[in-house]
Amino acid sequence: MTKSNEAGWNLDNSYARLPESFFSPINPTSVRSPKLIILNDQLATSLGLNIQALRTEEGVAVFAGNQLPEGASALAQAYAGHQFGHFTMLGDGRAVLLGEQITPQGERRDIQLKGSGRTPYSRGGDGRAALGPMLREYIISEAMHALRIPTTRSLAVVTTGEPVFRETKLPGAILTRIAASHLRVGTFEYVAQWGTAQELRILADYTIKRHFPELEAEEHRYLSLLQEVIKRQATLIANWQLIGFVHGVMNTDNMAISGETIDYGPCAFMDVYDPETVFSSIDRQGRYAYGNQPPIAGWNLVRFAETLLPLLDDNEKKAVELAQNEISDFHTLYHTHWLAGMRAKLGLFNEETEDEALIHDLLDMMKKYQADYTNTFRALTFQRHKDTVLFGTPEFEQWQKDWQTRLDRQQESKVASYQLMQSSNPAIIPRNHRVEEALETAVERGDYSVMNRLLAVLSEPYAHSAEQAEYAQVPECSTPYRTFCGT
Ligand code: AMP
Ligand code: MG
Repeated sequence: MTKSNEAGWNLDNSYARLPESFFSPINPTSVRSPKLIILNDQLATSLGLNIQALRTEEGVAVFAGNQLPEGASALAQAYAGHQFGHFTMLGDGRAVLLGEQITPQGERRDIQLKGSGRTPYSRGGDGRAALGPMLREYIISEAMHALRIPTTRSLAVVTTGEPVFRETKLPGAILTRIAASHLRVGTFEYVAQWGTAQELRILADYTIKRHFPELEAEEHRYLSLLQEVIKRQATLIANWQLIGFVHGVMNTDNMAISGETIDYGPCAFMDVYDPETVFSSIDRQGRYAYGNQPPIAGWNLVRFAETLLPLLDDNEKKAVELAQNEISDFHTLYHTHWLAGMRAKLGLFNEETEDEALIHDLLDMMKKYQADYTNTFRALTFQRHKDTVLFGTPEFEQWQKDWQTRLDRQQESKVASYQLMQSSNPAIIPRNHRVEEALETAVERGDYSVMNRLLAVLSEPYAHSAEQAEYAQVPECSTPYRTFCGT
C-alpha cells in the first residue's frame, strides 16, 4: 500500500506500542472516488508536509484512506466515557489514527482520519461522515485556532464519492484531524474500568511523556499529572467562556487530556449573552449550556481524578484526599483566568476588588437587554456605543461612567487600554448564519467560494479591518439556532 514519500510523511506510532487492549489495528476502508475539497496549506507546511505532493492523486489517496502514508500503522483507539452523565464503552467508531507526524520542530502530532469506515467500536454506526459536518469542524476548529484557543486542527477534507444516509442522502467525506494527542478523559476511564493496574500506570506514564515530560522525574508525578490536567482545563474553559463558545457535548470522551478543544459536533458561538444558551437539539436539560461549562468541566475532572486513584496512594482514603485537594483548586484556577481575561476585554491592566462587580454589571445588562456578546465588547473597544442595544439605557450610561473612571485610575494610557481591548475582543467569530450559508453553498451547489472567503476572514479575528465589518453583523431573524448531533 505504501508508495514514495514526496509528501513528507514522517510518522511514528508510539500509540501502537502500548498494550494491545488500548486499540484495534485497522486500516481505513477504501472509498470509490476521492476528491480534495480543502487543504490547509499553512498547517501542512508547519507539519513538514509538501503541499504540491499532497494535492496529487497519490497525496489525496492518503486523506481518503485509500493509501497509507509511509510509516503509518493505522488503529482505532479504545475509550469509554460519561455521555450526559452515563458511563459507557465507546472507542473510535468512525476514525483511525494513522500515526504521529514528527514535525520539523520535533513535535509529535496525531494524524487521524475521521469518517474513514467501520471499526470494531462502530456498534450500529456506518463509520462514515457527511460533508457538511466535516466542513463545519474544519471551519470552527480553524477559527478557534485563530482565536488563540488550544484546539485540534483540520488539515484536509475530501469527499469520498459515496453517499451517507442520515435523515437524507448526503455526500460522504473524510476529515484529517491533527491533535497533540487523542488521549481523552475517556481513555483513562476505559483503562481504569477494564485494564490492569499495570496498564493504568503505562497509560499515565505515556501521557506524562507525551504532554508533561517535565514531570517524568517527579516522585509524585501522577498527582502532578492531575494538577496539570486541571490547570489546562481551567484555562481552556475560561477561554471558551471569554469568547462565547458553547461546546455542546462535553462528555468525558470529548475532553482531551492535552487541554485542546476536541470534537466539534453541535458546538456554536453565542450571539445574545445568556448563560442558558444551548444549541444542541439533544441537550434538552441544558446540561451543556454556556453557563454550565465550568461546573461540567469540574465534574469531568472528578471522573478523571477517580481513574488515577490507584496511582496516587496505596491507601484509598489518602488517595481520595489527595485528589479532592487538587480538584478543589479547579474553580479558583478557572475563575482567576476568566477574571484576568475579562479585565483585558475591558482594557484593565491592574486589579481592583470592585472589578468583578463592574464585569457582572455589564453582563447582567447584556442579558437584560439581549445584547450581542461579541459586538458589545467590540462596541466598547471602538467606543461606538450606538452599536450596542445597551446604548441610551440609564444603566449603561452609569456603567460607562464607572468604567471610564476605573480606566482613569490606572497608570496606563487610554490608548494602551483600547489596544489591549482590540487584541482581546475579536471582531469576528464564526457566526452561525455565516457558517450555515458557507456550508449550504458548498454542499448543495459545490461552490466553495463563500466558505473560502469566510475562512480567510476568520483567520484574523483581531484585525478589525473594514472588510470584516459585514461578518460582524448579527442575523435579522432570531429563531433559536439549533445544531444536530447526527453528524
Ligand atoms: P461523538 O458524539 O462524536 O463524540 O461520538 C460518540 C461515539 O459514537 C464515538 O465512539 C464515535 O466514534 C461514535 N460514532 C459517531 N458517529 C459514528 C458513525 N457514523 N459510525 C460509527 N460510530 C460513530
Ligand atoms: Mg467524540
